[in-house]
Amino acid sequence: MTGEITTLPDIDPLLLRILPNPRPGTPPPSSKLVFGKTFTDHMLTVRWTSAGGWEAPVIGPYAPLSLEPSAVVLHYANALFEGLKAYRSNTGRITLFRPDMNMSRMNRTAERIALPTFSGPALIELISELVRLDASWIPQEPGHSLYVRPTLIGTQNALGVGPSTSALLFVICSPVGPYYKGGFKPIALLATTKHVRAAPGGIGSYKLAANYAPGIIPQLEAAMEGYAQNLWLWGPEHFLTEVGTMNLFVVLRREDGATELVTPPLNDIILPGVTRDSVLSLARSHSSTPLPGLPENFIVSERAITMPELVSASKAGRLLEVFGAGTAAIVCPVDRIGYLGEDIIVPTGERGMGPVSEVMYREIVGRQTGVIPSDWAWVVKE
Ligand SMILES: *Cc1c(COP(=O)(O)O)cnc(C)c1O
Repeated sequence: MTGEITTLPDIDPLLLRILPNPRPGTPPPSSKLVFGKTFTDHMLTVRWTSAGGWEAPVIGPYAPLSLEPSAVVLHYANALFEGLKAYRSNTGRITLFRPDMNMSRMNRTAERIALPTFSGPALIELISELVRLDASWIPQEPGHSLYVRPTLIGTQNALGVGPSTSALLFVICSPVGPYYKGGFKPIALLATTKHVRAAPGGIGSYKLAANYAPGIIPQLEAAMEGYAQNLWLWGPEHFLTEVGTMNLFVVLRREDGATELVTPPLNDIILPGVTRDSVLSLARSHSSTPLPGLPENFIVSERAITMPELVSASKAGRLLEVFGAGTAAIVCPVDRIGYLGEDIIVPTGERGMGPVSEVMYREIVGRQTGVIPSDWAWVVKE
């Protein structure tokens, strides 16, 4: 059998049409911002069909989408998303933080549900154009940013379950305030044995829309017991996996005296976070370029860790820190973990964040805001 090679058009930034919003809004005062409730003047849309490939991109006014009630996304959750932030650096430049990582993850997720893939650099160029156009919406205050939400949905009007023959990629932007206002706020976790977030062979390692609504009830149940988030476990061994919608890190003092930073290895049940990757890269760079504040005898481990190991480390006084890592909070310290009816108390230091997480927070924010030069910050040319 000879395969026929057909090359359909990829996303092409040169074809971009810009329709300026005739009624631009006024950004609210930064102190009034609530995460994900305010949107900028414009959005990017790019349509795709299986017959014609990607169509010309359009940046137009932020506005409702029009979908038929038979659109597959409304029935079978042919939907995925990304989340990244644009920052106003200390020199006034606009930067995106590691957008290449989001593009490769978005393509990997699209492939998983038979939605079309695309050129990552092309979408970064279009996102840059959108952010540039709505630059007045990027809050200037330290710790503020513009949250960028690329989304891809299947739009075919058909009730059969199969690859969607049409799709819509859109990007919307929302100005956000700092996750921490007036000091770090450690959170309590409920290590839940009742629900699972992800299972081997499943879809937990993809940023698919279908992964998120099922976490709402477990989170409400945790909240009713006085915990902010779920600590998702897996298997009869009670392997630790993730925290709410963040990756998980544990800091232990080993019996040989070394400090060990542990995170579960990437597999089917772990979302490959950009922040997770940044924490690991920074921690690993410490052996050649020491980061002030990190211990000398410091080991970085991507390995499985169970609740029984955490409990025994805690009892031996060797549990030093637990934190979540994700784009919204960057680093989120944990001070308490409910497990089988008891609470494990986790040290958080005087400032509400342990020494390792505090270094990670400082180093990542420094690179996001341009205080520390880094090729992780992609400049949006103005
Ligand atoms: C998005 C997400 C993360 C964090 O990923 P970042 O790229 O660091 O923002 C972690 N876990 C889950 C389940 C997620 O959806």
